[in-house]
Amino acid sequence: MALSRSARLGTLATAAASFLVIAAAPAPTAGAPGIGDPYFPQLGNGGFDARHYDLDIAYDPGTGRLDGRTTLTARATQDLSSFDLDLQQLEITKVEVDGRRAQFTRDGDEVTVTPRRALAEGREFTVSVTYGGIPEPLGGPIVFGSKYGWMKTADGVFVACEPNAASTWFPSSDHPADKATYDIRIKSPQGLTGVSNGRLVSTYDRGDSTYTHWRESRPMATYLATATIGKFDVQTGRTPGGTPIYVAIDPVLKNSNNVDVYAVTAAATDYWSQVFGPYPFEETGAIVDDMPEAGFSLEVQSKPAYSAVRNETTIVHELAHQWFGDSVSVDRWKDIWLNEGFATYAQWLWAEHQGTRSAHDSFLAAYNARPADAAFWQIKVADPQRDTMFASAVYQRGAMTLQALRERIGDKAFFRLLPAWTRLHRYGNADTADFVRLAERISGQQLDDLFDTWLFTTGKPTL
Ligand SMILES: [Zn+2]
Repeated sequence: MALSRSARLGTLATAAASFLVIAAAPAPTAGAPGIGDPYFPQLGNGGFDARHYDLDIAYDPGTGRLDGRTTLTARATQDLSSFDLDLQQLEITKVEVDGRRAQFTRDGDEVTVTPRRALAEGREFTVSVTYGGIPEPLGGPIVFGSKYGWMKTADGVFVACEPNAASTWFPSSDHPADKATYDIRIKSPQGLTGVSNGRLVSTYDRGDSTYTHWRESRPMATYLATATIGKFDVQTGRTPGGTPIYVAIDPVLKNSNNVDVYAVTAAATDYWSQVFGPYPFEETGAIVDDMPEAGFSLEVQSKPAYSAVRNETTIVHELAHQWFGDSVSVDRWKDIWLNEGFATYAQWLWAEHQGTRSAHDSFLAAYNARPADAAFWQIKVADPQRDTMFASAVYQRGAMTLQALRERIGDKAFFRLLPAWTRLHRYGNADTADFVRLAERISGQQLDDLFDTWLFTTGKPTL
């Protein structure tokens, strides 16, 4: 914005100019129903910027019923006559904007809220949604497991929502391009533990219930939020490097883990802090729950959630995501290799660190394992398409890309590049072009041919 020449003439002229500007302003319009991601046109929402979520949820594992109230503080990014939130089939009983009742309509997972008065661009406002029902997890072709989102367990619930299932349990702008901080309050039957992101603010029993309050004060993508509830053995402390750690393990799994989750979490958090830059969050940890139907683990912010798979290499992968995916998030889902390629490469780095196999040998093993005519080589890593966004090529060819880059620019430049990337985009969003630019700047080399071959072209590259 720049001051106009007439505004310098005096108060009267300023007032007149302002009046003219107001008179000429276009009428407020509806915010877009999506944030503009071609893979998920309806995901996220336009017209506002989410700043802070206050999630208040009560869950009854007996009936499976969730009762919730979400208060979102947001800033209007245009003059808004109405705006959307994303929420699956749960029933909404009340919507308020700035404490006053607001009208709402629903169409699929889009909730359109019309405040009594339009919201001016730049204005901060709150929207509160009171809702409840029995959440349904999502299924379908995108993820490996048969279900994801809000998943009922024998003693509570396991919550893991990548990429689009936060809407199974709270209303939001459900896209990583719109990150926010969180307060998460969980009411559960007494004796169960509610585990969430960030740090524990308080927990107490009243009546038959346990109330637990968590706060994530670093920006977080919606899919990384959790409110996992169940019987847990909790172990807390600090890593040798000094990061607070909180590990919750379902007691029925106590003897089925082939790994010391607490020890590996502590060691990997500290080692990645040396390689990738300072640990980005206030606490590290793990949630280990008995949910075989999920069939996956997720890099839940500050506490990865493990269901079926629990081994050292999975733990180091999910912890690497705290830098690559959680702190530095994708702006569009087509860039998912910036999460999965890096976390897979971290597994190779871990093996190198342990002295079991060099990253070069991991690269060769992955490369040689797939003949040139394998379907694996037909995925374009930097735009894998929605239903194949978690294809193994995104992981393995993504990691191969990083090893090819390392061998081209040398260890010195490569191990400056990784922490520079996490520092430059800390708590924000970035895309593949940003990474290519930074790699070229730090190495002083033209790298288009390398990235074109590995990320933007199908077919098996020649070595
Ligand atoms: Zn991953």
